[in-house]
Amino acid sequence: MSKVVKFGGSSLADANQFKKVAEIIRADPERVYVVPSAPGKRFKDDTKVTDLLYQCYELVLTGEDFAKAFAPVRERYNEIIKELGLKVSLEEEYVKIGQSFRAGANRDYAASRGEYLNGILLADYLGFAFVDAAKGIFFDSKGNFDAAVTNACLGAILEKTPKAVIPGFYGAMPDGTIKTFSRGGSDFTGSLVAKAAGASLYENWTDVSGFLVADPRIVDKPAGIEVITYSELRELSYMGAGVLHEDAIFPVRSANIPINIKNTNAPDDAGTLIVPTADSNTKFLVTGIAGKKDFSAISIEKDRLNSENGFMRRMLQVLENHGIFPEHMPTGIDTVSVVVNSHELGDADNRAKLVNRLKDVLRPDHFEIIDGLALIAVVGRGMKSKKGTATRVFAALSHAEINVRMIDQGSSELNIIIGIDEKDFEKAIKVIYDMFILSEQPETK
Ligand code: ASP
Repeated sequence: MSKVVKFGGSSLADANQFKKVAEIIRADPERVYVVPSAPGKRFKDDTKVTDLLYQCYELVLTGEDFAKAFAPVRERYNEIIKELGLKVSLEEEYVKIGQSFRAGANRDYAASRGEYLNGILLADYLGFAFVDAAKGIFFDSKGNFDAAVTNACLGAILEKTPKAVIPGFYGAMPDGTIKTFSRGGSDFTGSLVAKAAGASLYENWTDVSGFLVADPRIVDKPAGIEVITYSELRELSYMGAGVLHEDAIFPVRSANIPINIKNTNAPDDAGTLIVPTADSNTKFLVTGIAGKKDFSAISIEKDRLNSENGFMRRMLQVLENHGIFPEHMPTGIDTVSVVVNSHELGDADNRAKLVNRLKDVLRPDHFEIIDGLALIAVVGRGMKSKKGTATRVFAALSHAEINVRMIDQGSSELNIIIGIDEKDFEKAIKVIYDMFILSEQPETK
């Protein structure tokens, strides 16, 4: 069985990190497909190679000489080559990149060279084959990722290549032009490679030992998450707890391949295992607590609203026409609130247009937009089989004198979403954490 290992930018930021990566790969003969990011930050105020490349592209556009703009990128790679004592040279590649810039290569091409060059170095260092992602990962002519073609082409390449390095972040359009995924997209590449290779595991190596139950900026030293299901992670990452690129779970999820988030700087830590399904007999009832500020509730009241045929459809149609995606929609007999990301409501002018349209179409008795809401998702597969979870969430909040403005429980009983005032956000996360995690920790003497 093969494992796919993806290393993030900080895991490959310099020669010393390359050494750790090689040691990790050599420790397990099943780690045969490697997906690198571009070199990331070596220290706090350092610049990632991807950002250097975007800068380089802008500088060349404004008339700067390519060689001068590209110099800091070149320096980063040459330093790695020198410190690792590699025989490989990237000089010819630098010349080719310069030629492509002069021939008008696009911004995505520029950014993708970070992963491309790092892939060449890592393949050489490991003694693995180098497979250019542009030969196996494809977009259609509209620029959408083409899953079927990619899976077939990449699968065929990997079948003939027992050990390979495939750079992350980019693929090719049908005409061969390079296109990148969104930022952090090497996670997605890792997932595509795992699926195409039929891997038994996708290891995603980064600089933290997996996911934490809550944001460490809010909760002091939160517990780690050992096992999480794909569905739970979706609920949490959707609320902003991302360590992993949003799209990365889809290819492996459909192929039933688990993901293990691991720490390059602490390889013995178990990290977090993301699995298709897991036992609901969990250590903690709650797997994770995450949330986000900046929501607004569009609150509509109308007598007998629930028996007015087509009311919801008309309301949703107006929202759709204004490019607004409802996040939650708690309803009562005569009321409905639509919770949306505040920024989607736009400026005062846009808001006024939306309000007028909703009033015209729905003729409400009362209409209001309430800003300054925060949403918190309390997520756990263990909730389904245990009674009283919601009671405990609300007991914790009421004890802390936090007013709950909205409640929503997903039909899967995997989450409870609570809307509160933004000012109570941090406090709410802390008290829910205390209720479910601190109070359930085994006693230590
Ligand atoms: N290097 C790219 C970025 O900085 C892609 C990645 O690291 O996944 O976003």
